[in-house]
Amino acid sequence: MLTSICGINWGDEGKGRMVDLLSEKFDVVCRYQGGNNAGHTVINERGRFILNLLPSGILRESVVNVMGPGMVIDIKHLCGEIAKLREGGIKISPENLKISDKAIITMPYNVLQDIMEEDRLTKATGKPYGSTRRGIAPVYADKYMKKAFRMGELLNTDILYKRLKDIVDWKNMTIKAYGFNPVTVEEMIEYFETYGKPLIDYITDTGIYLNQADKAGKNIMFEAQLGALRDIDFGIVPYTSSSSTIAAYAPIGAGVPNLKLDNSIGIMKAYSSCVGAGPFTCEYFGENAEKLREAGGEYGAATGRPRRVGPFDVVASRYGIRCQGADEIALTKLDVLSGYKEIEICIHYLLNGKRIDEFPFTDVLDMCKPVFEKVKGWNCDISKCRKPQDLPKEALEYIKLLEKLCDCKIKYVSVGAERDAYVEMF
Ligand code: GDP
Ligand code: MG
Repeated sequence: MLTSICGINWGDEGKGRMVDLLSEKFDVVCRYQGGNNAGHTVINERGRFILNLLPSGILRESVVNVMGPGMVIDIKHLCGEIAKLREGGIKISPENLKISDKAIITMPYNVLQDIMEEDRLTKATGKPYGSTRRGIAPVYADKYMKKAFRMGELLNTDILYKRLKDIVDWKNMTIKAYGFNPVTVEEMIEYFETYGKPLIDYITDTGIYLNQADKAGKNIMFEAQLGALRDIDFGIVPYTSSSSTIAAYAPIGAGVPNLKLDNSIGIMKAYSSCVGAGPFTCEYFGENAEKLREAGGEYGAATGRPRRVGPFDVVASRYGIRCQGADEIALTKLDVLSGYKEIEICIHYLLNGKRIDEFPFTDVLDMCKPVFEKVKGWNCDISKCRKPQDLPKEALEYIKLLEKLCDCKIKYVSVGAERDAYVEMF
């Protein structure tokens, strides 16, 4: 059984939290795209963890975690993440962590490139892309230029080091053009030696492993890095990630293009949040934004940046559900809306007086205005609710309304960040 867990919105929907919960029924959890631009928060009996690169199944001893070929891996960051989890008592070994030999290595110069370009954009246009500055766009660009290094190359460093000089020369042409100091081959060798060597026992052909696991009848989950609206093709380009956040991509990014998904679970937030730049039609400003941001603790897990917030956006969410081919939804952070007597929903957009129901192309989206509608709130604490009948009538009505507007069943409702704070609806 192959299941994908993907974000319906702009990211930070609570994917890590839901993967941690649902992985109880899974044998394998696999990240298939992106890198340490992701920030997945998990709170359970073992503590509070923020995972950037490691699959969120790493916190369950019974789960084998796979980092697929579609990923870009900052090996320094990964070594740090593993060390931090070990300090927290989490066991990590080649038994429960397998890194694809085909996954790409994010290089220090990719991080530098990201920073140089965001700073240039800020100066030149005042409109940076809102990157996490962790080198993700440059390293994916290198991958498609066929000038990136892959994890499997760490197993034969004599060949790898021979490739270095030409690639470093090529990269320095760019770095110098920005007016920065060039990098050296020696620095890159040191990077591989320091942060690559400790990882070599984990590197394997994860496609073979996943196919065997599938044949043996194991349950495999694919964990997305960001939400649908950050997808490189279907999202709000250029304010997106540089990778695919889409469920249909999961088998490819995981290294098993021969396998088909059985189930797609979409993680959808009960309101909207968006970290970084780009059109965000339903955005709240001023006091409205302040109240919702505080209630939801909306500060980026990867970067600490205050997130932009707004009410639930029907147009964007319906599009996200379509992109993810979601069979069912986990609605998260419903408890955050508890302090409202009335809850707003962005029901559709307006463009020059015309009603817009289908999520438009980025340029058009920029010109759209939100139309808000009010529904009755429950205005009481729901964080202790564990069964549908525990939820107040207005909360149940809100859930039913979102199901109707988005045409998708809501199977789970999360009412808190802790593992057990959820309601299974059917
Ligand atoms: P991800 O990137 O999709 O994994 O989400 P993040 O971890 O970046 O952001 C989600 C935030 O909301 C984290 O701080 C979680 O601990 C928290 N969270 C997740 N689910 C819930 C929920 O149902 N209620 C509340 N109050 N917080 C939640
Ligand atoms: Mg996040």
